[in-house]
Amino acid sequence: MVNTSEHPSAPLFSSPSASGDNYLARLNPEQRAAIETTDGPLLVLAGAGTGKTRVLTTRFAHILLTGRAKPWQILTVTFTNKAAREMRERIGLLLGSPAEGLWLGTFHALCARMLRRHAEYVGLTQSFTILDTDDQLRLLKQVMAPWQIDIKRWPAPGLLGVIQRWKDRGLTPERITPTEDSDFANGHARAIYTAYQVRLKQLNACDFGDLMLHVTEILRTRPDVLAQYHRLFRYILVDEYQDTNTIQYLWLRLLAKHAEGPANICCVGDDDQSIYSWRGAEVENILRFEKDFPSAKVVRLERNYRSTRHILGAAAGLIAHNSERLGKTLRPGREDAEGKKVSVLGVWDSDTEARMVCEQAEKLRAQGHALKEIAILVRAGFQTRAFEERLMQTGLPYRIVGGLRFYERAEIRDALAYMRVLSQPADDLAFERIINVPKRGVGPAGLQKLHAAARANNLPLTGGTEKLLEDNALKGKSAAHLRQLMEAFASTRDILAREGHVVAVEHLLEESGYMDMWRQDRSPDAPGRLENLKELTRALADFGTLGAFLEHVALVMDHDENGQDDYLSIMTLHGAKGLEFDTVFLPGWEEGVFPSQRTLDEGGLKGLEEERRLAYVGITRARQEAIIFHAGRRRIYANWQPSMPSRFLEELPDEHVVRHDEGGGFQRQGLNLSESVFDNGPIIARRRKDPMLEAAPALQLGDHVRHPRFGEGVVISADRHHVEVSFESVGTKRLLSSFIEKI
Ligand code: ATP
Ligand code: MG
Repeated sequence: MVNTSEHPSAPLFSSPSASGDNYLARLNPEQRAAIETTDGPLLVLAGAGTGKTRVLTTRFAHILLTGRAKPWQILTVTFTNKAAREMRERIGLLLGSPAEGLWLGTFHALCARMLRRHAEYVGLTQSFTILDTDDQLRLLKQVMAPWQIDIKRWPAPGLLGVIQRWKDRGLTPERITPTEDSDFANGHARAIYTAYQVRLKQLNACDFGDLMLHVTEILRTRPDVLAQYHRLFRYILVDEYQDTNTIQYLWLRLLAKHAEGPANICCVGDDDQSIYSWRGAEVENILRFEKDFPSAKVVRLERNYRSTRHILGAAAGLIAHNSERLGKTLRPGREDAEGKKVSVLGVWDSDTEARMVCEQAEKLRAQGHALKEIAILVRAGFQTRAFEERLMQTGLPYRIVGGLRFYERAEIRDALAYMRVLSQPADDLAFERIINVPKRGVGPAGLQKLHAAARANNLPLTGGTEKLLEDNALKGKSAAHLRQLMEAFASTRDILAREGHVVAVEHLLEESGYMDMWRQDRSPDAPGRLENLKELTRALADFGTLGAFLEHVALVMDHDENGQDDYLSIMTLHGAKGLEFDTVFLPGWEEGVFPSQRTLDEGGLKGLEEERRLAYVGITRARQEAIIFHAGRRRIYANWQPSMPSRFLEELPDEHVVRHDEGGGFQRQGLNLSESVFDNGPIIARRRKDPMLEAAPALQLGDHVRHPRFGEGVVISADRHHVEVSFESVGTKRLLSSFIEKI
């Protein structure tokens, strides 16, 4: 039997045993109804933690154990590969042997398998290749060449994004209307898309989006193939239905709509947890279900078995601020459901935030809690760095779930390679990594030439390159690019001597064209990479020299998990969907970080509502305790800048939340500062021990002060947390005293 506490994720099968039907007895009446309504279309629409995933997997068991279908006659769609793996394991346990041949996986994995069976219908052979993003981009650039498009204005990654979005909406080139086509390069996108698809077929290849597009096209045009799947799949089960996009929806509908009658399709979802609209997900698919399947039953689950009453109350109060929602009731289902209030902690700065989270995690471990039951959920990837460094210092095992550790990310490794060459020009390995990143037209032959020159002159690769440039022995575009690169290094060395390592590294990454490479990249992860690079320069500012920083990173990279199997999880809120933990830390609830500035800028009110749903997902991951942080200052490059608490904090209902402020600038009426957030005594007591806090000046009337943004001024009134300052440049301002430096 699987012990749920050993898994950071929601248990898929909590208890069904192959003997008898006691697995049904462990469900509430609504859940049981959802499982026993085995035939016909069924939609389970319910809030977080109400057992939707449990219903889905118990339903799988029920179908098998009641002999309604064989394992391979059930099509099960999960949102991630991880969820698919877990479900497969549990089914294996249930059946007493590893389950083979299950149609269980993500949309893409299922479609890849189908496409291998019918590749010939779309002009491919069974052994077609699936291209990765790099290959796709290279191919698209080749295809684009004859159009002579101004690629500065219309870079290839942008077009790739357009094509991907079309594919997500099920639009083959023939289906693109002229209005659709006006977005990119003055209406050439459709023609290039057509040529790109032709080229892919010639190469016997397809990209990720094609997996769904081709299969859906086959199901649409080949009634014989469709009939085959209708016969095969007696049951269809779909988790996280609120996040399906158009093509996934079309594919499901084709498979589920039989001529002979309604299919046995069961979709479970929660409109309040729809968080992937930026990837084309359409929450309307949920609302359409009853129209698509007129005989559909809808089951609502209202009892939440995951979280305490306060966690639920806080989450419900927050999500009530969204206007576009179906509205659902969520009631505590646990006996011990009262629990602790959700904590909101205002801390001095982002370093204090990282320190406090790690201290609390250590404390929990000392009290006997498994680290696997603790998660830090961040809004953006760049936030992980501060926690990682703290955790490594304290030796607490952790894992970045669903992503790479900060210093292992490609853009960070590239930037580090630039820094290594800057600090140590003989570092050939580092130079080789970046010589053609961004593309400088240096192929394998070019690189060999550089190596040969280096060897002949007994120089490192950088020296060999300089030598060839001096001798005018390099030709064409690559010569100009390499000259630029070497000049960038040279000018950076000057700056390093004059202005220090932070400014120098920023200069190098700009001048080498590295930052621009990501700015021009339109793939969805490019903005996150740019944020990571900013975070890297922030980290750099913590060290006195470039050398000291590089040494730190080398040691950090060497960190080994030692096969630890109890580790704390760090992941993004998006990645945490469907999972649950005893304790959840939610750092960085500040305007601009969460809600994310980018989403607000690009998505307006809709974007804000999606961010709020993400906050709802975050809070509802916690079983026992949710602890939210906001820092009063964050470092932007080398400077500290004040940050505003997230608007979501104000939206959390007071009766379910306890707020503390030790410098985060979040003051509320009636705040009881002596109340403890944690079992170990008031936070406020720790305040005095914090050197940062001790350094905070007690300001008095007439003091001369400096503010990072407003410059110098004189204090004209002061109380415990606030001062009024008359600034030379901007006049009088009322501010938090924590941001003011006495001069
Ligand atoms: P999410 O919306 O976050 O995906 P969900 O609706 O899928 O959540 P589950 O993960 O299936 O919810 O269940 C949440 C927790 O409640 C799990 O730990 C599950 O085992 C437990 N649970 C579900 N139903 C019951 C029940 N009837 N009795 C006791 N515990 C239950
Ligand atoms: Mg779930």
